[in-house]
Amino acid sequence: MKSQITTLLVLFLLATSCTNESKNKATSSDSEYSEKYSGPIIDMHIHGYTQNGGMFGLTHPTTLRGETYQGAKNIEEHQKQTISKFHEHNVVKAIVTDGHEWYQDNPDIVLIADADEPLDTLRKKHELGKLQAIAEMAPFYAGILADDPSQMKYFELAQELGIPVGFHIFPGGPNYGIHTLPEILGGMRTYNANPLQLEKALAKYPNLKLYIMHGGWPYIEDLKALMYAHPNVYVDIAVTNWILPQEEFNKYLKSLIDAGFGNRIMYGTDQMVWPQVISIGIETVNNADFLTRDQKEDIFFDNAAEFLELSEAEITKLKNP
Ligand SMILES: [Zn+2]
Repeated sequence: MKSQITTLLVLFLLATSCTNESKNKATSSDSEYSEKYSGPIIDMHIHGYTQNGGMFGLTHPTTLRGETYQGAKNIEEHQKQTISKFHEHNVVKAIVTDGHEWYQDNPDIVLIADADEPLDTLRKKHELGKLQAIAEMAPFYAGILADDPSQMKYFELAQELGIPVGFHIFPGGPNYGIHTLPEILGGMRTYNANPLQLEKALAKYPNLKLYIMHGGWPYIEDLKALMYAHPNVYVDIAVTNWILPQEEFNKYLKSLIDAGFGNRIMYGTDQMVWPQVISIGIETVNNADFLTRDQKEDIFFDNAAEFLELSEAEITKLKNP
């Protein structure tokens, strides 16, 4: 009888300790998933401008999240608000298209990108240390595909210079822009928004460091196929993180991570003229409840640091200011 009681007692203690252990596990993993990332951020997709006009002052058409954003009035306001958002969110590096002016005041943060120039001009800028990426390539708005001969030369130059090249496809450009902003976005067409248009460039220039700007949503299966075939294809998740509903963003991001591409996803905003979306984009990634703290760090910093070939010394400095 005594031995039976002892056995029961041992079993009871074992069961209690197992329950406590699993409770502890659940608690620690829950906090791992809910922990917000507050470390340094690399934003792979930001715009400066050299002239007023365009979308300045415009209200963004209601997004698929049901939000609108009031555009900065002019170049000065746009720069001031964007840099202020960088400081607020610990953005330590940013690829800035047309970022020459911004570089003067923020040389530690700004990496200059350009694509809307003749090849010789880009080559010269690179020689002078004023071009770190060819981006944002956006023949999209003129109905021209990535494999058009006029575009292939830019990929060739990017490979030759050994610098990243960023190519615009969906969901860049405000939703319904063809209809709501026809003077500026009337050339948007769904038929030239698919990531597969990049494959000829990837086959012809196998050493390209290519990133798809705005991540290629909603062509998720084609995107996975392209990333499966070509290890040098990365994505920035700009626009997806402030134009799509959170659940749709989660599905898109989880699909890429589940497929094994978690180390090729980079944070980006593409604030265009709406700097407030920088806060929303960062919040959306932090709210993706399936991401661990480490996966958030990959997206916000580590993947881009590797893609941009930052030195170990620089990474250490940025992570430990
Ligand atoms: Zn852009």
